[in-house]
Amino acid sequence: MLSIIRRLFCNHTDCFSYRKYNDFDFTEYNKCSKCGKILDCIKGFDEDLRG
Ligand SMILES: [Zn+2]
Repeated sequence: MLSIIRRLFCNHTDCFSYRKYNDFDFTEYNKCSKCGKILDCIKGFDEDLRG
């Protein structure tokens, strides 16, 4: 059993991205709106929230 998280791919072209915020950083998900698979996941830091 693989322990690594691998990206899921699908044949749909309908995808959207949304961000889930923690305190200062966020995780941006790229999700298929047809089947709900998370195609990509990016962790980032939002400097605008730093105050
Ligand atoms: Zn899909």
